Amino acid sequence: MTDFKMKTDADGVAIITWDVQGKSMNVMTLEAWPVLDGLIDDALADDAVKGIVITSGKDSFAGGMDLNVIAKMKESAGDNPAKGLFDGLMESHAILRKIERAGMDAKTNKGGKPIAAALPGTALGIGLEIPLACHRIFAADNPKAKIGLPEIMVGIFPGMGGTTRLSRKLGAMGASPLLLEGKLNDPKKAKAAGVVDEVVPADELLSAAKAWVLSEPKIVKPWDEKGYKMPGGAPYHPAGFMTFVGASAMVNGKTQGAFPAAKALLSAVYEGALVPFDTALKIEARWFTNVLMNPSSSAMIRSLFINKEALEKGANRPAIADQKVQKVGVIGAGMMGAGIALVSALAGIQVVLIDNTQEAADKGKAYTTAHLDKGIARKKTTPEKKETVLGLINATTDYAALAGCDLIVEAVFEDVGVKAEVTQKVQAVVGPDCIFATNTSTLPITELAKASNDPEKFIGIHFFSPVDKMLLVEIIKCKETGDVAVAKALDFVRQIRKTPIVVNDERFFYANRCIIPYINEGIRMVKEGVEPALIENAAKLLGMPLGPLQLVDETSVDLGVKIAKATKAAMGDDYPDGEVDDVLFWMFDQNRLGRKSNSGFYDYDAKGKRTGLWEGLATQYPVADDQPDLTTVQHRLMFAQVLEAVRALEENVLEDIREGDVGAILGWGFAPWSGGPFSWLDIIGAPYAAERCDQLTEEFGARFTTPALLREMADKSQAFYKRFGQDTKAA
Ligand code: NAD
Repeated sequence: MTDFKMKTDADGVAIITWDVQGKSMNVMTLEAWPVLDGLIDDALADDAVKGIVITSGKDSFAGGMDLNVIAKMKESAGDNPAKGLFDGLMESHAILRKIERAGMDAKTNKGGKPIAAALPGTALGIGLEIPLACHRIFAADNPKAKIGLPEIMVGIFPGMGGTTRLSRKLGAMGASPLLLEGKLNDPKKAKAAGVVDEVVPADELLSAAKAWVLSEPKIVKPWDEKGYKMPGGAPYHPAGFMTFVGASAMVNGKTQGAFPAAKALLSAVYEGALVPFDTALKIEARWFTNVLMNPSSSAMIRSLFINKEALEKGANRPAIADQKVQKVGVIGAGMMGAGIALVSALAGIQVVLIDNTQEAADKGKAYTTAHLDKGIARKKTTPEKKETVLGLINATTDYAALAGCDLIVEAVFEDVGVKAEVTQKVQAVVGPDCIFATNTSTLPITELAKASNDPEKFIGIHFFSPVDKMLLVEIIKCKETGDVAVAKALDFVRQIRKTPIVVNDERFFYANRCIIPYINEGIRMVKEGVEPALIENAAKLLGMPLGPLQLVDETSVDLGVKIAKATKAAMGDDYPDGEVDDVLFWMFDQNRLGRKSNSGFYDYDAKGKRTGLWEGLATQYPVADDQPDLTTVQHRLMFAQVLEAVRALEENVLEDIREGDVGAILGWGFAPWSGGPFSWLDIIGAPYAAERCDQLTEEFGARFTTPALLREMADKSQAFYKRFGQDTKAA
């Protein structure tokens, strides 16, 4: 069974059809490449063949390279992996270059057979790089199709000629949103952007491509003709110069230099623009090898693609019948409840949205109205869809409306008493099979479950704010939570298209548990006299989306004070964060509460825009003459989070390191280039991590003490993914 098949029709057009058996979408494998290569050879050598159309046997063209293959490319590249990778890439270039040259005479550009790509639908990654090597790209007018090169999103870049061809076809400026942001377009937009050449009705796709092939078209690519100039100008052209300076600044501004692929991509485009096409392909292959050799790329692919998808598909779901939610009751129509109602209704689930007053319930529903109105204005949705979605939400104060709900998500005030009362009121109405979930972020689920008369059906479903934007949902089991409740929560998360992690019940669960030490380490440094700009920039240079001080401003100083007081009450004399509280409580006393009061660690203008760090902080916490070096600040911020993740694993809060890594990136934006805390520890190696912890402990205190697990792994030179990866787990 081969992935590619060829048939020559009566007109002399060889149709190569890509159709991977047993998959809904084509993906390229290392085995399939030579098959395509052989078919191209055959067609070019066959005098009966006038031209070639490459298409797909599915309603899409291809989803790209099999990322499982890319993630393991380095491991399987032999003893000298850099050379092995480079040679392999050059072989792929040779295949695509063969398609592009199609038998033309090297000097005169005469001869050759026209080759068209006919895309019935989605064409991503190598699924677009193959068409880009063809002479004309036809796409079916399928508005659901997505066309583009999204590689940058998983930490690599288009390395099968896509970078070089697209930048030469569109110019650096035109190619930059597609290459640098991985922007995907539907076929019409792809044509407007110049990526595809023709959009035709789906039932005319093949005939249009064939007609073109038979029309004796000119097939030589502009970059193979004498005098080719890059659209918009190459780097030394005045206009091109501006583009490259701008792109460079943009990439550095967005990535802070923390993502190796973005810089490598830009270098490949820049350097490639200065040399002939074939040399540019070599440069692209060199940079792509460089990216694949960097452990960041395989870690990113593993967490952001392979493991994220595995979790979404229910890797940790108990093996029981489908628990899809039909009718959800959302109690509390505040900030979180309103968002939960929105995402549920968007997924087609019937929603009862309850609050204490009709006004509050209506206000919660109005959030969905506003969201849909914005969507209509941006042409992302229609008035009809708006009516359908709003029709699914019943905003009321009447608990009786909850009858028939199979899931409840409680999002009322963060108060044990209020939550217990709500639990009992709900139980009086719903049936015995209904699962009750709480969205608490700080209260132990086990404690809240006491109010339930069936703790087996009680669970935590912890959303992050803003609910409609944040991709992660943390599902929290307490000891008595049953499998049906876990499956229900996971099926609900899948319905609303978010990524779940399942953790056990301990203080702050997983995400907040790790993010609080990060914030606290930042504040602690303020108290020590570390320059606030150094703290914030050190975090940004690590690839964290927000520095710790900005994060306090966003989540609010009073929330920090509330959490500190509650934690102190719970921990008593063991409470370790007195130093942090000095600063936090002082900020609270100054009424600098963060963004919500338009003043915090940062200053804000009247419109709420941050204008810079607040200089007044230095009056209370003067900046010390001696400043630590950047790496020390970064290691403090990194280890504060990572050690907490290791402790969560030791304490069985986390049962699966994949969840620890994916949850960290999606939940609080943990340095995505690293693949997550466990991947980062694997990159630096357990022995070095333990040694560094010992140094940090000596210098800064016991919070950096090497966890026993890490110490043991350091002694045995073990890696987390070798010891706890899913392969090991399954064994
Ligand atoms: P909020 O104050 O915006 O909303 C709470 C809503 O609950 C209010 O509209 C209130 O009128 C309503 N309410 C209170 N008692 C009620 C009752 N007995 N019956 C019905 N409705 C009642 O609060 P929020 O920020 O939406 O937080 C709600 C829950 O979500 C809390 O448990 C919080 O810890 C959790 N949470 C919050 C965030 C966040 O970032 N805000 C993130 C994750 C989880």
